[in-house]
Amino acid sequence: MENKAFWKQVLQEIEPLIKRALLITWFKCTTVLGRNDGTLIVGVPRTFFLDWHLENSQDLILETAQKIDATIKKIIFQVDGSLENPDDPRVVNVLNLFPEKKKAVRKLPNRQEVRMVGGVTSKILNPKYTLDNFVVGQQNRLAHAACSAVSSRPGENYNPLFVYGGVGLGKTHLLQATGNKILQNYNKKVIVYATSETFTNEVIEAIQKRKMKQFRDQYRKVDVLMIDDIQFIANKDRTQEEFFHTFNTLYEEGKQIIISSDRPPKELDILEERLRSRFEWGMMADVQMPDYETRLAILLDKVKDYEAFINPKVLDYIALNVQNSVRELEGVLMQVIAQYELEHITPNLKSVQRILKNVVQEKKMIGFESNEPTLSVKTMKEVVQIVAEHYHVRSEEVIGPMRQREYMIPRQVAMYIAKTYLSKSLKAIGDFFGGRDHTSVMHAVKKMTLAVQNDRQLLRDINGLKREMGY
Ligand code: ADP
Ligand code: MG
Repeated sequence: MENKAFWKQVLQEIEPLIKRALLITWFKCTTVLGRNDGTLIVGVPRTFFLDWHLENSQDLILETAQKIDATIKKIIFQVDGSLENPDDPRVVNVLNLFPEKKKAVRKLPNRQEVRMVGGVTSKILNPKYTLDNFVVGQQNRLAHAACSAVSSRPGENYNPLFVYGGVGLGKTHLLQATGNKILQNYNKKVIVYATSETFTNEVIEAIQKRKMKQFRDQYRKVDVLMIDDIQFIANKDRTQEEFFHTFNTLYEEGKQIIISSDRPPKELDILEERLRSRFEWGMMADVQMPDYETRLAILLDKVKDYEAFINPKVLDYIALNVQNSVRELEGVLMQVIAQYELEHITPNLKSVQRILKNVVQEKKMIGFESNEPTLSVKTMKEVVQIVAEHYHVRSEEVIGPMRQREYMIPRQVAMYIAKTYLSKSLKAIGDFFGGRDHTSVMHAVKKMTLAVQNDRQLLRDINGLKREMGY
C-alpha cells in the first residue's frame, strides 16, 4: 500500500480513540515518510510536535500500524518543515478526512435525515448538546425545566414553548438538547430543527419550484418542530404566513412546537400580531446571563473535557470577569487551553488578563491592578518572589540551603530564569543564592535547559513565569 493511503487508514482507525481537537491539532500536516526494515517513519511538521507524539501517540500509532502491516516493529518521528503546507501531496488532510459534523443542517422531512424515521433522525441534531451538560443556575432554571418537561411529554403541556434571551446564553443548546432527549425517549418521532433562515430559504425554494403543497405536507408530518431565532422571520411576510399555517396545523394536532428568539413575543413588534399572540399561548421562559457561581460551574464542567490543568484561581478570574455571554466564557476558556496545549504556558492571572482584554473593557476588569504597561522584572529578588509564589514556597526557602525537591526545583527554575532572561552572571546568581559557587549555578542552569526539552509541565511553568515577569 502506498504511504499516503497507509497513513489515511491509520488515522481512520485512531480517530474514534482520540479527542477531535487533539487529532486536528497534532495530526494535521503529518504523513508517513517511509517504511522499511520494520520501521515506520512518521513525518511531523515541527519539533514541538515531537514531545506530544512521543508522550501520547507513539504506542497507539504503533499498535494501529501493526494491525495494517504486521512487519512494522517500531516508529520514529521525523520533523519535516515542508509538511506544514497542507497542500503537500503527501499529507492526508485530517479536516477533510473527518469533517466536523454540521450542527443544524437543512432538514425537510423528505430529506434523507428525516425521511428514515427512527434513530436516523438524530442526525439533524448535534449530540454534543444535552440537557445534562447544560449547567443550571437561577437565570436559566425555568427554561431548562420547561425543556425537560417537554422532552418527557412532547405536545402535552408547554405548547408552544417559547425560549428567549440574548446572544450566547444557551437557547440553541436547549433546543437541540430537547430534541436529542425526545429522540431518546421516543425514537419514532419526527423532529425538525431549523433556524428561521433555513425555514425562510425553504419557503423561497418551494415557491420558486412551485412545490408549495409538497412543502406544506412535509412540514405537517412533523411531531416536534423547533425554529431557532424566530426574530429573523420578521418582515418576511410570505414566510410568516407559511409558518402561521404550519403552526396552526401542528398545534391542533397536539404536536410540539418550540421556538427561540432574542426577545419576548411582545417585543417582536415587526411580527404579525396573530403570530405573536400564538407564541404567548403556551409557556415562555427566558435565559439570562448566569451568575458568577454558575459561570464558574460551567467552566469547571467544560475544563473536564480537556486534559489540561488550569489553576482554579484562573478559572475564578474568568468567571468573575466574563459577564456577557456563555459563548464568550467558553471562548476565553478555549484560548486559555490553547495557551496550555499549544504554547506550553501554564495559564496564570497575567496571561489570562491578556486574553480577557479582548473581551472585557479594561476599565471594567475586576481585580486588574493597573493600566500601566507591565515592566519587566529586573532584580533577582523579584524573580525569586514570583517563582516562590508560583510553587507555594517562601522566598527564603528558594534561596536557602534546603535540598528537598520542593525547594530545589523552584531554586533551579529561579536560577535558570535569572541567567536566561536577566542575563545575570553565574557568580552574581551564586552570590544572591546564599553564596553558592558559580559551578553549582551552572549545573542548575544546564539541568533546566535539558529538562525543559523533556518535561512539558516544567516548560509550561517556566513559560508562564516568563510571561508573568514581562519577558
Ligand atoms: P444562543 O443560542 O442563546 O446564542 P448557544 O446555545 O449557542 O447560545 O450557547 C453558546 C454556547 O454556550 C454553547 O456552546 C453552549 O453549549 C454554551 N452554554 C450556554 N449556556 C450553557 C449552560 N448553562 N451550561 C453549559 N453550556 C452552556
Ligand atoms: Mg443560537
